[in-house]
Amino acid sequence: MSKTPIHHFIGGRVAAPNSSRSQDVFNPATGAATGTVALADRTDVDAAVAAARAAFPAWADTPPIRRARVMFKFLELLGRHRDELAHLITAEHGKVFTDAQGEVTRGIDIVEFACGIPQLLKGDYTDQVSTGIDNWTMRQPLGVVAGITPFNFPVMVPMWMFPVAIAAGNTFVLKPSPLDPSPSLRIAELLKEAGLPDGVFNVIQGDKEAVDALLVHPDVQAISFVGSTPIANHIYETGARHGKRVQALGGAKNHMVVMPDADIEQTVDALIGSGYGSAGERCMAISVAVMVGDVADKVMPLLAERAKTLKVKNGTELDAEMGPIVTRAAHNRITGYIAEGEKEGAKLVVDGRGFDAKAAGQDCENGFWMGGTLFDHVTPDMRIYKEEIFGPVLSCVRVHDLKEAVDLINAHEFGNGVSCFTRDGNVAREFSRRVQIGMVGINVPIPVPMAWHGFGGWKKSLFGDMHAYGEEGVRFYTKQKSIMQRWPESIGKGAEFTMPTAK
Ligand code: NAD
Repeated sequence: MSKTPIHHFIGGRVAAPNSSRSQDVFNPATGAATGTVALADRTDVDAAVAAARAAFPAWADTPPIRRARVMFKFLELLGRHRDELAHLITAEHGKVFTDAQGEVTRGIDIVEFACGIPQLLKGDYTDQVSTGIDNWTMRQPLGVVAGITPFNFPVMVPMWMFPVAIAAGNTFVLKPSPLDPSPSLRIAELLKEAGLPDGVFNVIQGDKEAVDALLVHPDVQAISFVGSTPIANHIYETGARHGKRVQALGGAKNHMVVMPDADIEQTVDALIGSGYGSAGERCMAISVAVMVGDVADKVMPLLAERAKTLKVKNGTELDAEMGPIVTRAAHNRITGYIAEGEKEGAKLVVDGRGFDAKAAGQDCENGFWMGGTLFDHVTPDMRIYKEEIFGPVLSCVRVHDLKEAVDLINAHEFGNGVSCFTRDGNVAREFSRRVQIGMVGINVPIPVPMAWHGFGGWKKSLFGDMHAYGEEGVRFYTKQKSIMQRWPESIGKGAEFTMPTAK
């Protein structure tokens, strides 16, 4: 089978790479290499940044309403090409098609938000701060900004970034994951079709070499990163050392607390969907169920039954509930964690290893398949509790009461998402107020904030203080300027040597 070459998109067109490095792109369902993605070197990155820099002055000067009109057109095109993008996601990531459609929809939400940029960029104005003097603020774009994104949401996570950045008047260089690089190129074409001027949005394919070139590039003003915690830390420190604004979102270990009064059926549905959906490869996946009191005895048997009977199939099948793991390497890492959990003494209730790949569908024998895994009696000292597995492995920890559950969660180094299932309003309120986590769900297992609220975790799940998208996104991609003005007719006579005060 021939492999499609996957190149960069620079200055409004697909650009062949300077570098000779490349890597294969796989369909995780079949294990077949379907493409070869270029891995940029510094000269490729320089070309993308130069294109973005050249496009910046005119784009920044374009009235926000006209920038918004490009976003409206892009929105319309996304509506028409939603399924095409979802197919591209399934083909390189492996997630099931219906889930991929949901990913594109959540990305579209941010584009809708960005269409409101004229309103979002409105400044403040104070008349007569002193006699004859007015003071106002405006927000202006930064210049060239870069986005570095993970494999697990190849459409949605870039859309957390570029719609807001571009609508605010910046120009953008996206460095997607080399594991599923094709959707970014399609997005670039759609933006061009929407009327975006050449050079405003560029895609540079690559790995660490491209990222490190962006991090030290003097013309890159800001970096948005989403990925694992060690890399997020590296991006934050290196970017800041080179004078850039940085927001770096990292890994996660999300808990779901199940109180004794929770609706059992809803709880089981929530744990199955959020633990095994997208094969657990979501930064908001639930990987730890914290069972309070004796609720575990009711929930675990039902959960085990459901985990055993998950429809693990090629994501192109419309009834598939879970697809393959993204790469062979990730598959090996996850099976290693399962072995480690057994060794550490957790009770392996359902073992997803040894899943028969033929059951996933035609041509799937060489794909990266496993079933759902369920552990019970997991304790906080175990590696399967402490570390992010990023696979379809759900661990159950048993605690006595709400306080013990909250203390457990607060002691964990990650702080992305959390959820509590209960019917008790006061428990919900106390939980929301006390838990040291950035995004909280009450009877909502995956509380990903909507476009206008902003997304971000706490602790080692976010380096920097600005969340992605929402009003914080607008603030991240703009700088505030304050203007104080008076006219000669209102200026008194004589030089003033004291600090100016209101008169
Ligand atoms: P990753 O950290 O391996 O890669 C993320 C990006 O960094 C990719 O573009 C990759 O090419 C680049 N990269 C990888 N190694 C690098 C290095 N040594 N130096 C510089 N750049 C490097 O993450 P991933 O495996 O693609 O994605 C999964 C991770 O992302 C998980 O940890 C998940 O929790 C996290 N994630 C977090 C969020 C969030 O919002 N907090 C959202 C999605 C994913």
